[in-house]
Amino acid sequence: MTRELELAASLDRTRERLAAACRAAGRDPADVMLLPVTKFFPASDVEILYRLGCRDFGESREQEASAKVEQIDVPDPIRWHMIGRLQRNKARSVAHWAYAIHSVDSARLVAALGTAVEREFDEGGRRDPLRVLLQVSLDADPDRGGVLPDDIPALAETVSGTAHLELRGLMAIPPLGADPAASFERLAQLHTELLRAHPAATELSAGMSGDLEIAVEYGSTCVRVGTALLGTRPIN
Ligand SMILES: *Cc1c(COP(=O)(O)O)cnc(C)c1O
Repeated sequence: MTRELELAASLDRTRERLAAACRAAGRDPADVMLLPVTKFFPASDVEILYRLGCRDFGESREQEASAKVEQIDVPDPIRWHMIGRLQRNKARSVAHWAYAIHSVDSARLVAALGTAVEREFDEGGRRDPLRVLLQVSLDADPDRGGVLPDDIPALAETVSGTAHLELRGLMAIPPLGADPAASFERLAQLHTELLRAHPAATELSAGMSGDLEIAVEYGSTCVRVGTALLGTRPIN
């Protein structure tokens, strides 16, 4: 089977899965975005998914992503979402190519992104604000990144007080071995609390290939799907 047919079939299956999850949860499918995650896969796969109608893509490794973005040649703009951990010295590059970043977890990173986007504005590299989702740590493991639940309000204030950044919501990855339902339920509670102070922060980036149905049940507005669409990666 050609790669086109393979990706067309997996995209159909995944859209069906997402539609079924929305039906089961009594939610409107228009409220949950399918974000293909193309890390480890070539620019040609992005172009195939683009031809199949996808316009948003997620990448988690800055160097790979910035190289891939340069290789893509398609007529309409693609919205690139940075979903992986980011070192501050890569903020400038992300400010150049990313539509949104789902993995913001420290005030120092916020400051670096604010400065980076400002420079992009000054040099004509972008005109729209960078959308920011705070990545929440649900297990307090510092190695896996994420802001602690108690620190969300202060970090949210920092983002909304930074020019050129737009606070859009929360993101989380359930801790390894944890019950995803419990994780997504907790995340949904934290999101409800965030919305009280920041009513425009409506996005909840939750759910991957293995747990998207559960995430949709708990209010996800964006499922980040790699394996189910593109196949297994060499490493994770
Ligand atoms: C790779 C990745 C995904 C996609 O995971 P799959 O299980 O392959 O669907 C989602 N979110 C993040 C942050 C990732 O790094």
